[in-house]
Amino acid sequence: MLDELTEKLEKALKKITGQGKITESNISETLREIRRVLLDADVNYKVAKDFIEKVKEKSLGQEVINSVTPGQLITKIIYDELVELLGNQSSELEVNPNGLTTIMLIGLQGSGKTTFSAKLAKYLKNKKQNVLLVAADVYRPAARSQLKILGSQINVPVFSIDESNDPVTISVESLKYAKENGLNTVIIDTAGRLHVDDEMMIEAAKIKERVKPTQTLFVVDSMTGQDAVNSAKAFHEKVDFDGVVLTKMDGDSRGGCILSIRAIVDRPVKFVSLGEKLDSLELFYPDRMASRILGKGDIVSLVEKAQAQFDEKEAEDLEKKFRENKFDLDDFLKQIKMIKKMGSLKSLLGMIPGIGSQIKNADVDDKQLIVVESIIQSMTKQERANPKILNGSRRKRIARGSGNTIQDVNRLIKQFEQMQQMMKMLNKNSGKFNLPNMKN
Ligand code: GDP
Repeated sequence: MLDELTEKLEKALKKITGQGKITESNISETLREIRRVLLDADVNYKVAKDFIEKVKEKSLGQEVINSVTPGQLITKIIYDELVELLGNQSSELEVNPNGLTTIMLIGLQGSGKTTFSAKLAKYLKNKKQNVLLVAADVYRPAARSQLKILGSQINVPVFSIDESNDPVTISVESLKYAKENGLNTVIIDTAGRLHVDDEMMIEAAKIKERVKPTQTLFVVDSMTGQDAVNSAKAFHEKVDFDGVVLTKMDGDSRGGCILSIRAIVDRPVKFVSLGEKLDSLELFYPDRMASRILGKGDIVSLVEKAQAQFDEKEAEDLEKKFRENKFDLDDFLKQIKMIKKMGSLKSLLGMIPGIGSQIKNADVDDKQLIVVESIIQSMTKQERANPKILNGSRRKRIARGSGNTIQDVNRLIKQFEQMQQMMKMLNKNSGKFNLPNMKN
């Protein structure tokens, strides 16, 4: 996500890093460069201009203290301004504590509204809410059936009146249905159009008036850059909304939208959507995003992702196996599955501080995980528990069975043996083992 922006910002900041002092001239040069980077990323012209002015003002008023370099100082100022620009505080989705929470989604066709409805339903279901999805997108062909399929994948009921083409009626009826069936959260997927038009705005405003949603969220495709910002402006003026959802942040988004939208419509970004899978959704935190944009990683989100997949009982079992040197290939397989659930390897590595832009072109291959998985799955239970019995003919069978080469199988077994060695060492040192260079 936003790799190119990060890389260019790092480059622009590098120039000032080696300099001993902040002067008007080196600051001006760096800021000119950063302004160019922002405009290249399709950030709104006025937003970029104001941003640079604020950074300049703060930089020139600062004394460089001995312990930091001008580069570090200006990076910190830019970080603070980015957090400010992105909205300062994260704003959780508002819920109605005493009754029905209704969330209405608006946005253009193709923005990812239907996909996001299901993602949000899953997210709220995990938070123990009883959710109802409402198919009020009556214009896009297949939108209703798409929502029904997504709903069944996550076990969330979908309310639809297939014979009605009136989104207002469908939305109003859905509220009654929710109340009658003990559901406390309703997510309404309204109809978009290909372009901003009056009919769509009037219709959305009507639904809003009748439903009186707890929150209205505007869903927008981040890859459309300034068009996204313009449509946000139009929706803001005609319907208004409480927050923004940026979709397709996993794609080739240059960053312009995420950096401009809040300043233009004065509404916070609440979620970012990072893929077609239903769990690729993140709550938006301005500070973490600023950190990622500056290539400083986002270790907090990484830990949270891990925690979401973390089964305490399983972790305890694993730890016990580690301690007793009983970790086998079956356990290894479980770990791989967990990593795969967390997302792509590249996106995970991108969250580790200092790695972000360096891995942009690196050959981080998720296929490797699939190879390892298929090899282990071709082994018998006995072989997984005791890899020592894997002689030549067994290895050949496994390679053939999993569709890999014998070298692939040998490599995996070797890696596993090395891991076991390391575990033994760790155990011998009873936890006092320190990996070198862990401080930075
Ligand atoms: P709607 O017309 O606004 O309801 O849009 P859809 O939910 O049907 O999404 C349009 C297309 O974008 C579909 O092919 C989705 O799979 C895809 N899509 C939605 N969200 C994301 C996302 O975060 N990342 C990517 N890569 N694709 C997405």
